[in-house]
Amino acid sequence: MGLNLPLRFKLLFLTLSVVVCFGVAIGFYVTARVTGDLSNELLKRGVSIARHIAEISAEDFIEHNHLHLQYLAREHQTAEADIRYILMIDRDGELLAHSFGATFPAGLAKLNRYGSGEDAVIKRLDAGSEVIYDIAVPVLDGRIGGLRIGISAEPISTAVNTLIREILVAILLIGILAFALTLPAAQAIARPLTSLTRAINGLSKGRRDLQLPVDRRDEIGVLNDAFNQMATDVRQVEKRLAAQVHFLQVLMADLPVPVFYKDQTGRMLGCNRAFADFWGKQIDEIVGRSAAELYPPEDASLHLGKDAEVLGEGQPVVYEHAVTGADGKQYAIVFHKALFRDEEGQPAGIVGVMHDVTLQRESARMKSDFVSTVAHEFQTPLATILGFSELLQDNTLEESDRAEALKTIMRKSEALSQMVDELLDLARLESGRQMTMDKADCNLVELLDETIGGFRKRMTTHLFHFEAPATPLVIQADGQRLTQVVENLLSNAVKYSDAGSAIHVSTGLNGKRCHIVIRDEGVGMSPEQIEHVFDKFYRANATSSAPVGTGLGLFIVKSIVDAHHGEIHINSVLGQGTTVTISLPLKAEGRIEEQLPGR
Ligand code: ATP
Ligand code: MG
Repeated sequence: MGLNLPLRFKLLFLTLSVVVCFGVAIGFYVTARVTGDLSNELLKRGVSIARHIAEISAEDFIEHNHLHLQYLAREHQTAEADIRYILMIDRDGELLAHSFGATFPAGLAKLNRYGSGEDAVIKRLDAGSEVIYDIAVPVLDGRIGGLRIGISAEPISTAVNTLIREILVAILLIGILAFALTLPAAQAIARPLTSLTRAINGLSKGRRDLQLPVDRRDEIGVLNDAFNQMATDVRQVEKRLAAQVHFLQVLMADLPVPVFYKDQTGRMLGCNRAFADFWGKQIDEIVGRSAAELYPPEDASLHLGKDAEVLGEGQPVVYEHAVTGADGKQYAIVFHKALFRDEEGQPAGIVGVMHDVTLQRESARMKSDFVSTVAHEFQTPLATILGFSELLQDNTLEESDRAEALKTIMRKSEALSQMVDELLDLARLESGRQMTMDKADCNLVELLDETIGGFRKRMTTHLFHFEAPATPLVIQADGQRLTQVVENLLSNAVKYSDAGSAIHVSTGLNGKRCHIVIRDEGVGMSPEQIEHVFDKFYRANATSSAPVGTGLGLFIVKSIVDAHHGEIHINSVLGQGTTVTISLPLKAEGRIEEQLPGR
């Protein structure tokens, strides 16, 4: 209880205790000394009075002169105020005379001994209200008796009592004085400590601007200085921490990769925007939820199993799982999960990252499709070339068939060459290099006319219509590349429409740009298919019955149109047909730097 007192009260209490203890000790010492001295004085006086009476009464003792002895006793008692009695006793112990009146206190009769020789015998008697020293001395060496006087110790106790009172008053005064002197000192010590305590409380409640005065050089000054330093350090550490937390928050929030973290029981502690968006939820709707509440049952049990693995072994776990996103699409997701620990190094939960590998998986699938397609695409014309070459070698063919065989070999070789060109273009685009064009004046009407003419000859299954202005349409372009574009688009129109259907091609001028429109009446495409049609290896109808192709045509077409600073749009309706529109600037923009290889 006392320990909880404020410091200044403790200091005051200490000072007062010291004063009181010191005062009491001195009081005891002085009282004892004074009592001893006074008692010695009193006894000395008593003994000398007794001896004096013994001396002057010796004759009356010898003569047993009771009357005179009585007189002497009375006279001496009256003369000395502190003498309570005088008894005169013969050597047989009989009382010869006393200083009392008619009645003699019975208790005293027993005290009939007295000293012998020169010695005085002193006894301390407690006579109720006072202390009496009984002093017995012999008369004439005790040969004829002795006398006793009772001398009161009351003056001593009166003097001692007065002394004690005075000492107590002195202690009280010194105590008051000490209190008066200590109070300011105690307050001077306690005040800065109180300010320091207040400052520390303020600091713990978040006040970081507090500074204490350091205008003194004592321990308090050092303490205040240390506090100021500590407050500054706390401020700096907090600033650094806040910056780090902010950095992490921004990093996580803006990270395009979904990130989440959960506690050991599997409850979501937090996630970033990308994660919430992926699941089509608000962050608030995710935090606090378990896997069972967020995912379908089979997915939840898979994730929980992996979580247990991470928590059990402490090692990161990576696994791939097909997931349906909020947009209803299927994604191939690689989950990276790792343990995070608390400040004491104990496992605290799991942090996870969702890595979308759908494109990689799709691209890998498309690549492998591509390899088999390319092999197949090469195999068919090669088989034809080989077959006709053998026939030619055997020399068994008619002249007209020989010419036809050579034509076929030529056509198939051209197709092979075109495929090799496409593959080279792809390799070039894949390596990240921009397609640059060998641009020159190029009459679009002529270019289209020739290309369509070629198709009309080769593709007799379709009807080609061409609409163009009567005047030449000259633009700055790489003629061979533009022919490649038109051939690709026409070949698509033929491939993806029924035999006997029409293919319409038109061109014209729109201000500073010209356009080419190629329209077929074929199978058409859905909006989702159109979205991907320019992706490399993408094939909208990749079924076994679909016309062969590598899925590279439109990818290269777009690259060539881009290199001409042009635009390409596809409008298509499933089952009705497709319209491809290309718009090109009339004037060449940019400089010609290099040519594509293989041209
Ligand atoms: P490649 O042209 O390399 O031989 P491809 O024709 O399959 O092969 P692209 O020209 O890039 O490849 O076309 C991609 C896909 O777009 C095609 O597989 C086809 O499904 C679809 N497509 C392209 N043009 C048309 C069209 N005119 N009508 C319908 N579908 C088309
Ligand atoms: Mg094509």
